[in-house]
Amino acid sequence: MCELEGLGYRGKALELLRGADCSVGDILEISSRGRVYEGILMPRFGAGAAIIVKLKSGYNIGIEVTDMVEIKRLGRGAKPAFVAPLLPKQNPALPHVVIMSTGGTIASRVDYRTGAVRSAMSANDLLGVVPELADIARVETEFVFSIYSEDFCQRDWSELALRVAKRVEEGVDGVVIAHGTDTMAYTSAALSFALQGLPVPVILVGAQRSSDRPSSDAATNLIGAVRAAGEAPFAGVGLAMHESISDAAIVVHRGTKVRKCHTSRRDTFQSVNGLPFAVVEDRVVMLSEHYQRRDPSRRLVLRQKFSDAVVLVKFYPGFDPSVIDFYVAQGMRGIVLEGSGLGHVSRVCFESIGRAIDRGVVVGLASQCVGGRVNMNVYDTGRDLLGLGVVAFEDMLAETGLVKLMWALGQTDDTRQVVELLRADVAGEYSCCTLLREGSLHYRGGL
Ligand code: GLU
Repeated sequence: MCELEGLGYRGKALELLRGADCSVGDILEISSRGRVYEGILMPRFGAGAAIIVKLKSGYNIGIEVTDMVEIKRLGRGAKPAFVAPLLPKQNPALPHVVIMSTGGTIASRVDYRTGAVRSAMSANDLLGVVPELADIARVETEFVFSIYSEDFCQRDWSELALRVAKRVEEGVDGVVIAHGTDTMAYTSAALSFALQGLPVPVILVGAQRSSDRPSSDAATNLIGAVRAAGEAPFAGVGLAMHESISDAAIVVHRGTKVRKCHTSRRDTFQSVNGLPFAVVEDRVVMLSEHYQRRDPSRRLVLRQKFSDAVVLVKFYPGFDPSVIDFYVAQGMRGIVLEGSGLGHVSRVCFESIGRAIDRGVVVGLASQCVGGRVNMNVYDTGRDLLGLGVVAFEDMLAETGLVKLMWALGQTDDTRQVVELLRADVAGEYSCCTLLREGSLHYRGGL
């Protein structure tokens, strides 16, 4: 693939640009429909066939490619490059917040080599790009990883938990973790279990558009997250993103009760079976009454070990139970089944499930419904599963249940103790009463 293709040019546009020996950054003269445009050739994002140039006025325009278009290269130009901005001056009177960067869109920018977005910004760059942060907190930055969140694994959760614990023990007022959104809710669950008795807030934050795009949500999310970390009255792990598609407010979800629900919307994260902790505008407003208060004197208990011998298996009509036997033979110590409705799987699975439990494998059951609670006492099949020793995951999200089982098996080898840990509410993953509606876009209207 040539550079121009990598930067999004195809078909006729590519042919014309190649014919005129142009690269991104060059100064071009383009004649089309009797008009002449002069500007710098830009990468083309998204679909479409137009050629994108930045005019002297600073505006980008797309010029439709027709047979009448002619292109002349006027000069070679430098490729647009990222220059780290100057860091803002810090105010020692403000709360001390550490921003850790792990990668993802929030810490990404356009790579002019490939035209794709890549993880390439440090927490320090983020601070430079969003100088408003210096009016909210005394911000320190720490680079942890530069990876997409789909590349995270248990080892990374442990490393991150250790880093956060170190900062919390040093006495910071809050920690913000910039993270890819795809698996951010898994990490928020993992940190919720690993960092017990947190004295201050630890807030994960991401973005759906990278910070060098005009439509980016990175700055607003980051500002909300830093405010929550520095000022919120609660302690614990939260996840901060847009409350709605407008920039008006950032909502802080509870780390164990949140899911990414949309591939591209800014308000992609929704609280499921629980209220978010708070919303942030120019101050933090609590939405939930059930939270641990910020208390710098509380001692953090670090339990950062996770087992990697756990799988999440989704049940569906026609499911082949030998999948369960396969995982047991592979040495898995825990299986989370995502069952149907109130917590069911087909009877054809019962034998394999019973065999797995007899061999010491812990089997949990969550519902693939988004809202509501598993209740395995309603139908005889649910009761049979409970009789086999399956642990009902109540109103806990399946992915939170997966992370919790990885964590529980990281704490002890004793199956009974693992089951006890699974049944206990460790980090707000179970709620005592079931909300009638699933997590809603209209938190402030009440559920
Ligand atoms: N897939 C990447 C990640 O989760 C980028 C998406 C994002 O950050 O929203 O890290």
